[in-house]
Amino acid sequence: MTKCLACEETITKVEKENWDAVEAKDGWIHQGCRDDDLAEPAVQAFYSEGGEDIIGVKGSYCTDIYDYAPELEEYLDSVNWKSSDGWHGCYEGKAPQGWENVIDTWFCGFDGHNIEGLTEKFHEKWSENKERPEFPLIVAFPRTSNLFSTGLEVYVPTDNVEDFTAWLEA
Ligand SMILES: [Zn+2]
Repeated sequence: MTKCLACEETITKVEKENWDAVEAKDGWIHQGCRDDDLAEPAVQAFYSEGGEDIIGVKGSYCTDIYDYAPELEEYLDSVNWKSSDGWHGCYEGKAPQGWENVIDTWFCGFDGHNIEGLTEKFHEKWSENKERPEFPLIVAFPRTSNLFSTGLEVYVPTDNVEDFTAWLEA
C-alpha cells in the first residue's frame, strides 16, 4: 500500500493513473500536497549563466526545477535544516562540486536590515538592475525560523571567484 509522503493517506491506483499523485524522491505524494509543500519552500534558488534565470525550489518532500541545471539540482539536494537551538535555525546549502560560496548571510525582507557592504552591492546589481554576469551563478534564499528574515547564499564556480568580485565592483 502506498502512502502519501506528506498527509500519510493511502494513495490509490486510480490516483496514480490520473496523475492526482506523483512520485517524488522518497515516495509518492498527492498533487495537492506537493503544491502545498512547494508553496512555502525551504529554499528558493536561481541559476543563471548570462541569460534567463532557471528557478528551483525545495520543500520538505519535493524538489522542482523549471529547466535543466545539474548544479542547481546538486545545490538543492544539499540543503538541510540547521538548528541553532530547540526553536531557532535556518536552512543552509553547500557549494556544488567545483563551486565556491561567495556570499553567505541573511537579511530582513521586512525593513531591509543587514543589507550592507557586499550584500548591498549584490542586491543592487542582481535585484534592482537585473544584471546577470556571463559566468554561472547560483543565488539562493533559504528560509529561517525568523518570519521576517531570509538567508542569502551565492555560489560561483571556483574558476570564476575573481570574476565575481570584479563584476560586483564594476
Ligand atoms: Zn497527501
